[in-house]
Amino acid sequence: MQKDFDIIIAGGGLSGLIAAIKLSQSFKVLIIDPDSYPRHKMCGEYLSLEVEPYLKSLGVDLSKLSSVTIDQFRFTRGLKSLETSQLPLGGIGISRYSLDYELYKKANENGTFLQGRVTDVNHIDNHFQVIVGKEVYKAKQVIIATGKRSVIDKKLERPFIFKKSPWLAVKMHYDYDMPDNLVELHAFNGGYAGLSRVETGKVNLCYLANYDSFKDYKDIDAFNKEVLTDNKFLKGFFENAVPTWKKPIAISQISFEEKEPVEGKLIMIGDTAGLIHPLCGNGMAMAIHSAAIAAQQVKPFLNNEITRDQMLINYSNEWKSTFSSRLRYGRWLQRILLNEKFTNIAYTLIERIPFLLPFIIKKTHGKPIAI
Ligand SMILES: Cc1cc2nc3c(=O)[nH]c(=O)nc-3n(C[C@H](O)[C@H](O)[C@H](O)COP(=O)(O)OP(=O)(O)OC[C@H]3O[C@@H](n4cnc5c(N)ncnc54)[C@H](O)[C@@H]3O)c2cc1C
Repeated sequence: MQKDFDIIIAGGGLSGLIAAIKLSQSFKVLIIDPDSYPRHKMCGEYLSLEVEPYLKSLGVDLSKLSSVTIDQFRFTRGLKSLETSQLPLGGIGISRYSLDYELYKKANENGTFLQGRVTDVNHIDNHFQVIVGKEVYKAKQVIIATGKRSVIDKKLERPFIFKKSPWLAVKMHYDYDMPDNLVELHAFNGGYAGLSRVETGKVNLCYLANYDSFKDYKDIDAFNKEVLTDNKFLKGFFENAVPTWKKPIAISQISFEEKEPVEGKLIMIGDTAGLIHPLCGNGMAMAIHSAAIAAQQVKPFLNNEITRDQMLINYSNEWKSTFSSRLRYGRWLQRILLNEKFTNIAYTLIERIPFLLPFIIKKTHGKPIAI
């Protein structure tokens, strides 16, 4: 196999695949991921429509992948439910199984995919060496798209990796009757769960829970039965929903700490640059958007029009001006919705000022990505 590339992308999730599709139109790209496709992945699977035109420009037509359009939002806690509100832009329900597979096929049309795990990246004599097992690959620039946490974060000694994070997440698909155009967010003691339909007709239950509230229960089933059902709407869900997988997917140590979009001379995209709280439903759009920004900034560097340092400054500045305020609003929204006292005040406020919730949701989302 060829070993010398313009760009190597570590990680073939959403952000890595998008960067590979875009950059392989003009450059020699290698994308590396340990997974084979299709595969399920932790996610609420609500994709904001702000990415639709950009995906279309890459030849990915979302309307062909899913007919589930979601434009309504409902929040509940305990016995209470807020009035359903209109989502400012809306989204579609699409499984990561289908979406990532579609992108993977597209990325393979011009680029090269390698199944493997990147264990180290070194910058030597103005190029990069990327280590995958015993093999060494060479590139002019490397983009890190390895998601929430990886061995690369450890190698780079990124501060967030040394802090224990209390968050774990669980996901499962069910047969369940709910409106196609609705995404529901149900708070429970120590976490919240999202419910919405995906293109297969199944309903995705995906929740984030604090480890302290989870650790006293022997398994996910017990936790679901004992804790999630303190919310009467989730109780109703578990009484009627039929799981369609043998086992749920679960991950732990999900960190929402601030990160930097550039580390040393490496460009970080998607969750490696920053993870917005999942209740905002904007992580996938941010991953796609950050890949678009990276591709735009890398191009003039590879064409020898700007220096590497200039490219890194440009990327970092653009990333921060695009996403910093979204992340701030996301942290703020999570604090309010997870705190029982705040939630009650927020309930009263939102009931009195109906446009407040759509306004806050809008602040955690972006405008359609410029092509
Ligand atoms: C509970 C939960 C619910 C969510 N719900 C939603 C939602 O409804 N809507 C939404 O928009 N966002 C949601 N998100 C956020 C969204 O899932 C992420 O923001 C998005 O997947 C980020 O994409 P990414 O490319 O950065 O990372 P990922 O999609 O996680 O991809 C990272 C890839 O890197 C690979 N990798 C890891 N280590 C290495 C290595 N060493 N070498 C090579 N490859 C490696 C992995 O195998 C993986 O394929 C949710 C997140 C959580 C935690």
